[in-house]
Amino acid sequence: MHPDVVKLLDLQSKDLDLLEIDTRLADVADEEAELDRAVEGAEHTVSAAAQAVADAVQRRAELEVKIETYRVQQERRRQAIEITHPGKRAATLMAELDLARSVLAQEESEWIRMADRVTTLEQEVTEAEAGLEAVREQQAPERIQLKEREADIQRDRDAALKARAESAALVDKRLLTRYDRLRRNRSPRVVVPMNGSACGSCFTAVPLHRRSLIKGGAVVEGCEVCGVILYIPEGGE
Ligand SMILES: [Zn+2]
Repeated sequence: MHPDVVKLLDLQSKDLDLLEIDTRLADVADEEAELDRAVEGAEHTVSAAAQAVADAVQRRAELEVKIETYRVQQERRRQAIEITHPGKRAATLMAELDLARSVLAQEESEWIRMADRVTTLEQEVTEAEAGLEAVREQQAPERIQLKEREADIQRDRDAALKARAESAALVDKRLLTRYDRLRRNRSPRVVVPMNGSACGSCFTAVPLHRRSLIKGGAVVEGCEVCGVILYIPEGGE
């Protein structure tokens, strides 16, 4: 095997280690995201309950304004009746007073209903806040574990990066550029053993003269079709 291919294979194994480590990091991130979603769900419940309270409080305040207006109007009617001589005008005012009284009673009972509703909704906010707190408490040990796992993996990653850099330093610069470009454009595995007389990646037959070059280890040969760097494993054909 060409000595450069041996170095490339070592580099590739370091890169595959890094990939595996990155997968583990992504798993941890996924698990954290799942915990975050649970918190967000509980937070949403709290804010929806708080919004319902705010709406009910506003409705209650609107009723108070309305009721106050009705009361003022009723007071004016009473005063008007007092200074009006009995007759058609006084009868009309009396009828208006009675009608408005029942409307006012309806609005007042609506106010009581809304005040009760505010109390109920405030209770729901308290419960939702307790629910959120419970979710956070329940997650705390799991989050600590995840952070520890992440720190461990990060340490592995730092070591793997160092090993990768050391391995890459041994590879010929032009070959390293070719290898890195292939990896970016194709797959993480770009130094590939031949499969019999064919490329081990795309399975296109490799011409005999190129096969003997590869076998002799004289050059670093790539597949003419897919570009991967080919080698014949020890003990191979
Ligand atoms: Zn190929």
